[in-house]
Amino acid sequence: GTMTIQLHDTLRGKKVPFEPLKEGEVTMYLCGPTVYNYAHIGNARPAVVFDLLARVLRRHYKLKFARNITDVDDKINQASIDTGKPIDEITARYIKAYNDDMGALGVQPPDVEPRATHHIDEMIAMISALIEKGYAYEAEGHVLFDVTADENYGSLSKRDLREMIAGARVEVAPYKRSAQDFVLWKPSTPELPGWDSPWGRGRPGRHIEGSAMAEKHLGNTIDIHAGGQDLVFPHHENEMAQSTCVHGGAPFARYWVHNGFLSMDSEKMSKSLGNVLLVHDLIEMIPGEVIRLALLNAHYRQPLDWSDETVASARKMLDRFYGAVRGIDVPEDLRRSAEPPAAVIEALEDDINTPKALAEMFNLARRLNKATDDGERQSLAAGLLAAGDLMGLIQQDPEAWFAGGDDGELSADDIEQLLSEREAARANRDFAAADAIRDKLASAGVQIEDSAHGTRWRRG
Ligand code: AMP
Repeated sequence: GTMTIQLHDTLRGKKVPFEPLKEGEVTMYLCGPTVYNYAHIGNARPAVVFDLLARVLRRHYKLKFARNITDVDDKINQASIDTGKPIDEITARYIKAYNDDMGALGVQPPDVEPRATHHIDEMIAMISALIEKGYAYEAEGHVLFDVTADENYGSLSKRDLREMIAGARVEVAPYKRSAQDFVLWKPSTPELPGWDSPWGRGRPGRHIEGSAMAEKHLGNTIDIHAGGQDLVFPHHENEMAQSTCVHGGAPFARYWVHNGFLSMDSEKMSKSLGNVLLVHDLIEMIPGEVIRLALLNAHYRQPLDWSDETVASARKMLDRFYGAVRGIDVPEDLRRSAEPPAAVIEALEDDINTPKALAEMFNLARRLNKATDDGERQSLAAGLLAAGDLMGLIQQDPEAWFAGGDDGELSADDIEQLLSEREAARANRDFAAADAIRDKLASAGVQIEDSAHGTRWRRG
C-alpha cells in the first residue's frame, strides 16, 4: 500500500520514513526495568508508548519485540543487602510486579523478555571479541571499552569526544586510559553475584547486556531501539559503540526512538523529594485505562507533567468515549471486521501522534452522538471501538465503566439505592423528594437520564 510510518530518529535528529531492514519484518528492542523496586509512573511511559508503537507496527509487519529485564545491577545488590532477602527473590518479585502492573495499563507482553543473567555467556563472548578487535582492554580485573578507538563515539548524543575527555572532572579510576572509557566487565567480591570469565570472577558492566541480548534475539542490526530520553547518554551511546564495533561497523539500530520525561506537579520525580508515584499503588486508585490515556495524551517526545488535572482530564475523555458507545448494540460481525478510522491510523503512523489520534476519536464520538440512524450509529461505534482496540482503550463494557467509579464518592450500589428511592418518590408523586435525590446525585458528579426504558446514570 501507500502506507509509510514516520518516526523521529535521534541519530539523524529528525523525523524520517520508516523502512525495515527486511521487507515485511521488524525488530524492536526496548530497555526494560531494573528489577529492584516497583515501576514508577515515569517508567510506565516508555512501556505504554512503545506498546502502542508495537501495535501500530503489527498492523503491517511481522514484529519481533524484545523488552529486556535487568536482573544484575548494583542497585539490586544493594536492595538485597538492605532487606536481607536473596537476590533471586527480589528480582522474581519485581519481574512479576512489573508485568502485572504494565498489564493493568493495557501493555501487551513483548515477544521476548530476555533476562541479563541468562545471557552472561553471550556478554563474555562479545567482550572477548571487542578485546580481540582492539576496542577494549583489560586492566586490574576490569575490562574497559576504549572510546578513542571508536571514531563515531558521541554521534548518537551529539557530544564531542575530545571535549568530553577534556571536561571530565570526576576523579578518573586509575585503570582507565581515558576518562570516558566505560566498564564492560568488573570484578566481584565473594558476597556479590559473579560469574567466571577470562578476566576472573566478575559481573557485567551496565551497557553490555543490551548489545548482547539484541544480537542474540534480534540480530546484528535491529530496526528500532527505544527507551527514555535519559538513556541516550551514556547508555545508548555505549551500546551503539559496543555493537557497531563488534559487528565491523554494521549499524546497531536503524531508528532510535526516545520518549520525553515525565515530571510530577512540575518537579522532577525523585526519592529525595518524596514524590515518586508507583504504578502498583496508582492502579489501586485509578482505572488502568485512565493512566494509559493520561500517558498517551501528550506527544511521546514532549515532556509530560503528571498532576491531578492530568488524571481528571484523562478520566473525562474516557467518559466521553464510553458515553458515546454506551447502549449501542454493535453486531458481533461488524465489531470484528471494523477498522479504526483512517485518520486515527494516519496520526499514529505519523511519529505516534497520539494527541491527533485522540482528537480524531473525539470527532468520531461527536458524530456518533449526533447520528440518529441506527445503522450509522452502529458503524460509527464499531469504528470508535476499533480505534480503542488499537490504542488499548475503551476495552471495558460501558455499563461496567460507568458503574466503576472509585473516587471514594458514591459507590454504584449507593447510586442504585438512591435511584430506587427516587423511583419510589416519583411513584408516590413526591416530586420534591425525587428532585432532591437528583440534586444529591448531581452534586456527587452523577448524571441521570430518564427514558421510556428506565433511568440510566453516568459519572461526569
Ligand atoms: P530505569 O529503570 O531507570 O532504567 O528506567 C526504565 C525506563 O523508564 C527507561 O526507559 C527510562 O528512560 C524510563 N524513565 C525513567 N524515568 C522516567 C521519567 N521520569 N519519565 C519518562 N521515562 C522515564
